[in-house]
Amino acid sequence: MSGDPLDATERDVVVVGAGAAGMSAAYAAARAGCTVTIIDANPVAGGQYHRRRIDAATYRPRGCDDEAVWRRIHIESATTVYAVEIIDHGTQRIFGVRTRGDDRHRRDVDLVRARRLIIATGAYDRPLPVPGWDLPGVMTGGGAQALIKGSGVLPGNRVVVAGTGPFLLAVAQAILEAGGSVAAVVEANDPVALRRHRSALTNVGKAGELARFITSLTRHRVPYLRRHRVTRVHGDTTVTGVTLARVDASWHATPGTDRFIEADTLTLGYGFTAQTDLPAQLGCTLQVSADEGLAVTVDDDQATSVTGVYAAGESTGVGGVDLAGIEGLLAGAAVARSLDHPSPLRDEPALRRSRDRMRAFADALATAFPLRSGWRDDLEDDTVVCRCEEVPAGRIRNAITELGAHDARTVKLLTRAGMGWCQGRVCSLAVDRLCPRSATLDGQARAATRPVAIPVPLGAVADINLQSRRES
Ligand SMILES: Cc1cc2nc3c(=O)[nH]c(=O)nc-3n(C[C@H](O)[C@H](O)[C@H](O)COP(=O)(O)OP(=O)(O)OC[C@H]3O[C@@H](n4cnc5c(N)ncnc54)[C@H](O)[C@@H]3O)c2cc1C
Repeated sequence: MSGDPLDATERDVVVVGAGAAGMSAAYAAARAGCTVTIIDANPVAGGQYHRRRIDAATYRPRGCDDEAVWRRIHIESATTVYAVEIIDHGTQRIFGVRTRGDDRHRRDVDLVRARRLIIATGAYDRPLPVPGWDLPGVMTGGGAQALIKGSGVLPGNRVVVAGTGPFLLAVAQAILEAGGSVAAVVEANDPVALRRHRSALTNVGKAGELARFITSLTRHRVPYLRRHRVTRVHGDTTVTGVTLARVDASWHATPGTDRFIEADTLTLGYGFTAQTDLPAQLGCTLQVSADEGLAVTVDDDQATSVTGVYAAGESTGVGGVDLAGIEGLLAGAAVARSLDHPSPLRDEPALRRSRDRMRAFADALATAFPLRSGWRDDLEDDTVVCRCEEVPAGRIRNAITELGAHDARTVKLLTRAGMGWCQGRVCSLAVDRLCPRSATLDGQARAATRPVAIPVPLGAVADINLQSRRES
């Protein structure tokens, strides 16, 4: 190997994530003159919001339309980054990005080197457990959307959309537009709180979108039940219906308000959790954001606390697709400047102002749709909380009350809740909220620490490490 640890085939910048944030970041950095590779787990670029079928037109973020720039960007799709590390701490800091091919190519591991890293890994759904949620036919709102957007498949024939937040409306709208039937939208909070943010909604251009969703529900005669929660899912081998109850401000069910709704599908979603595993591996500072979940801390340039690592989009806190795109542009421009290229952006101060306005609105929205604790009343001892390892609520309660566990990580070590295929992405919110020390930075960060983000065959990792040693 030469004295320069970064040879010509390697990149100035690796961007992890090809959603609105990652694609915008890559475009800005490449436009300024950087060599850029984007790595994304999905088969096609677009992320969650712009998810599309494999044969659809290629996704381009708004304003990023110079195809000559895109031709200079290398996109590695269907490839997951399972670990990131600093492999050269010298004056020229070099990052190692370890990747694995998708489930058909699990032995395809690789090591990509880069001078700068932009993390734009987005977020994932926050479901909460309810008796019967392990039946086939229960899925997250994002899962239902992914079926529709990515494969053109409806999640079911008659769907109840439940949880909290404006995303419920987006899920219902997607089902209706695809020709499906929505039995009810069940919102645990009272969106009347949104009235206080009416002018902010208009300022960030969201009022029209909200009005469209509401009109669509009205036209299709879909009941929008505020201050209601699904308290039980029914069915033997698959979902046949759900019980709903009216809830108070803490989400405790009001006795005598139960009602049954027939449905073959239930989608659950109580907001989103930012994907923070890669920045956590590098030791980037994390914070608890307005929605009480973890997020990567960034400065005005989208730089994290680790030199050379930037973050944009939902990984820095859930805030919507437009905010993600702007943060991406700013991150790409900042990275370019740090590598002595001029900023490719015409009006950075205006973009920064838009970003700050949208971020403030996202924080206000999070407080209008908070996560309350009444859902815990529904859990019976045999309600499964960790679906991968089949750990019921009773075993988790026992770990807390009898064995003295205080946080989700200790519960995980005592019960295996969070040790399965999804590595706690589905259950760790619930486990954390069942613990005495819940919603703390320390407790959540400990539970979300994943030295290897997805399962990788040991033999494949051993092979690549052997190969790198032979090369050096
Ligand atoms: C499930 C879900 C559904 C949503 N639906 C809507 C909606 O209908 N309307 C709306 O306004 N907003 C929606 N949002 C919010 C919206 O998706 C975001 O505002 C926007 O997509 C954020 O863009 P992003 O680039 O930050 O992240 P994303 O669009 O989520 O993109 C992140 C990308 O990173 C990739 N990735 C993550 N980890 C890795 C890894 N380790 N290795 C490689 N690739 C990785 C993912 O495959 C993904 O393509 C949704 C969010 C989620 C989580």
